[in-house]
Amino acid sequence: MKQVYMETFGCQMNVADTDRMEQLLFQSGYLRTSAKENADLVLVNTCSIRDKAEHKIYSLLGTIRPLKKANPDMTLALAGCLAQQEGETLIKKFPYLDMVLGPDAVERVVEAVDYVKTQKKSLVWTEFDQEKKYSIPISDEPAAKTSGPSAYVNIIKGCDKFCSFCIVPFTRGREKSREPYEIYEEVRQLVDRGAKEIILLGQNVNSYGKRDMQPPTPFHELLYGVAEISGVERIRFTTSHPKDFTKEAARAFKDLDILVNQLHLPVQSGNNKVLERMRRGYTVNEYKALIDLLRSEAPDIAFSTDIIVGFPGETDQEFEDTLELMEWVGFDSSYMFSYSPRPGTPATEMEDSVPLEVKKERLQRTIDLQKSLSDRNAKKYIGQVVEVLVEGETVHKDYDFKGRSPHYWMVNFSGGQKTLKSGGLAKIYIESASGHALRGTYRSPN
Ligand code: SF4
Repeated sequence: MKQVYMETFGCQMNVADTDRMEQLLFQSGYLRTSAKENADLVLVNTCSIRDKAEHKIYSLLGTIRPLKKANPDMTLALAGCLAQQEGETLIKKFPYLDMVLGPDAVERVVEAVDYVKTQKKSLVWTEFDQEKKYSIPISDEPAAKTSGPSAYVNIIKGCDKFCSFCIVPFTRGREKSREPYEIYEEVRQLVDRGAKEIILLGQNVNSYGKRDMQPPTPFHELLYGVAEISGVERIRFTTSHPKDFTKEAARAFKDLDILVNQLHLPVQSGNNKVLERMRRGYTVNEYKALIDLLRSEAPDIAFSTDIIVGFPGETDQEFEDTLELMEWVGFDSSYMFSYSPRPGTPATEMEDSVPLEVKKERLQRTIDLQKSLSDRNAKKYIGQVVEVLVEGETVHKDYDFKGRSPHYWMVNFSGGQKTLKSGGLAKIYIESASGHALRGTYRSPN
């Protein structure tokens, strides 16, 4: 078989797209390798959400250049959001690139490789697909790899929100949802292949089924539908938009035992004026009201979030408001970034007024606060027994296995060697915590 080396930057949508391309390439005779030196095809699935990711990708391309020189038959492909954003420019900048594929060209990856090979010229495929519906056909072909205990399932792609700082609506296009029957079929197949936890995926899952679906299927109905599939032991979903989160979806946390009580709910800022400039479509009080609603349905629900500091015009007080909100919610974890302008987004029209040093200092304060919140939340589990979905053996020398708790804490634990395997559920007694990980001892199977 031919060899493909794949590297992914960015969000879980990109991870899922890479998996999909791996599967399609596998069906056409490619096996994934971890050594790019020997690869027939090198495919980098890119992210353009922040300039840091972009720079990393450019430097990776620099390291691949000598390999391509040594092996001119190697096909070098760039996919994903940076590919969509930069298009033809990438070929001009890096003439040794063979193909540039936007996210909507994922399904055509095999066709693209064949084109480059037979036509002996580079290609740029960045048109959005014109289909009204989003479909990932399910096939009975052998899988490129066995499913882990957790599996992602794309349910919606694109985004209609146009937050002023975000490139996603320009790189992934308008929202399109997959039909429920197709999602259920994929979930069944994943369960047959060993998945226990299903993670429903989209840029804005709460917007699922609102457009071009007959009859319309709201997101909470999809949750109830997935929960009925035999063999699904846990359900998660990401990413949620606070503005679109319905009370019915909040209610699902109460009704569905297997919908874990953990939610990633990006807030971005704790100040109304900044939220308005970000075009997030909610106020701090509305965000807090949603947290209260979710807590009333699922009292032990844990939250994680995204925070941007140093957004154009952010004053000291506006930044302090963000810290205050973080304290108020008590997030388990946060993805924290300092603002960097993304070409083509409305925020680039605003003056990037917060000096770099101030951004750095604010980011550090945010990180420090989150660390103390995480430490505080971790301590709540010490002395408790938690249910862990076993992922496999841990590299941690003092422990045997690792897995995830329902609240998405990594748990390293000892014991259970005779009974446990990847994908099993286990009761673990938590003895200590360190960073975003808990440590404990195996008590019993679930
Ligand atoms: S909701 Fe906003 S931040 Fe999230 S993908 Fe859409 S535009 Fe970007």
